[in-house]
Amino acid sequence: MGHEVVIIGGGAAGLSAALVLTRARRRVLVVDGAEPRNKPAAHMHNYLSRDGLSPLDLLKHGRAEVEGYGGEIVNDTVTRVTKTDDGFAVELSERTVHAQRLLFATGLVDEVPDHLRERWGRDVFSCPYCHGYEVRDQKLAVFGEEMKVALVRQWSDDVTHVPSVDGIEVEDDRLVAVISGSDRIPADALVYSAPVKPRDEFLLALGAETEKTPVGPFVRTDGKGRTSVPGVYAAGNVTDPAAIVIVAAAQGAQAAGMINMDLVTAAG
Ligand SMILES: Cc1cc2nc3c(=O)[nH]c(=O)nc-3n(C[C@H](O)[C@H](O)[C@H](O)COP(=O)(O)OP(=O)(O)OC[C@H]3O[C@@H](n4cnc5c(N)ncnc54)[C@H](O)[C@@H]3O)c2cc1C
Repeated sequence: MGHEVVIIGGGAAGLSAALVLTRARRRVLVVDGAEPRNKPAAHMHNYLSRDGLSPLDLLKHGRAEVEGYGGEIVNDTVTRVTKTDDGFAVELSERTVHAQRLLFATGLVDEVPDHLRERWGRDVFSCPYCHGYEVRDQKLAVFGEEMKVALVRQWSDDVTHVPSVDGIEVEDDRLVAVISGSDRIPADALVYSAPVKPRDEFLLALGAETEKTPVGPFVRTDGKGRTSVPGVYAAGNVTDPAAIVIVAAAQGAQAAGMINMDLVTAAG
C-alpha cells in the first residue's frame, strides 16, 4: 500500500505536519536530508517552552513523537518528483515511493560566503530575534540595509554599519573584528544578511507558481499550505523566508489539516 502523504523535509515544518497527520491516522512517510537551516547554532530561541534547546534536540523529540504514532521517517534525499495518474512518484536515492499528496518542507539555503561560514550561527548570524539577546550591549557590526541597523540597535547602542565584509578576525574562538575595505571594526558579533535560496526545484518542476518577496521569488501558497498545483502543499522556509522555527512548525500543522481534509473530500 502506498503512502497517503509523503513529506519531503523533516525540519520543524515537516515533522509538525507529520505529527498532525499520523495522529489523524494517515500513512505518512517523511524523507529528510537532516540538514536543518539552524543546525550550525547550538541553541534555538523563541520557541515557547523550548527556548534555549539545541535545534537538533527539538527534531530528535519531534521524530520520536511522529514515530510513536506510526509515522515512517527515513534519512535520505529526494532526487526527483513526478506527477502520475493517481498521485506522485517520489524518487529517493535507491527506490521510488508513491504518494497521494505531497508536502514540501525542504527549507532554504543561506548563501553564506566561505570566509564567514565557520562562525555562522555562532557570532555571525542573520536573525537578531534569534541570537541578538545573547550579544546584548556588546559591540555589533551589521552588514545589510539601513533598516537592519536600526533594528539591531534594539539590542545594543554600540552598532556599526559595515558596507562590505571582506574578512573577519577571530581570537580564542571569538570574533573580535570585521574587516570592511581598509577599515578594521572591533566587533563581538556580526549581523549578516546572507542571500537566501529556497530548496524549491521540485516544486517549480511540478509547475508551482511563485510570488515576489523582499528576498526574491518564493512559491506562493494560499496561506494554509496549498500551492497552485493540486495535491501539492508547502510549509516553512521553502515558501516563507521569514518563518522562524515556531512559525514553520505552525505552518506545517496547518498544511497537515488541509491535506487531511483534502483526502477526506477526495474519498467522498
Ligand atoms: C544560523 C541560524 C540560526 C537560527 N536560529 C533560530 C532560532 O534560534 N530560533 C528560530 O526560531 N529560528 C532560527 N533560525 C531560523 C530556522 O532555522 C528556521 O525557522 C527553520 O529551520 C525553518 O524550518 P523548516 O522546517 O522550514 O526548514 P529546515 O529546518 O531547514 O528543514 C528542512 C529539511 O528539509 C531537508 N531537505 C531539503 N531538501 C531535501 C530533499 N531533496 N530530500 C530530503 N530532505 C530534504 C533538509 O535536509 C532539512 O532537514 C535560524 C536560522 C539560522 C540560519
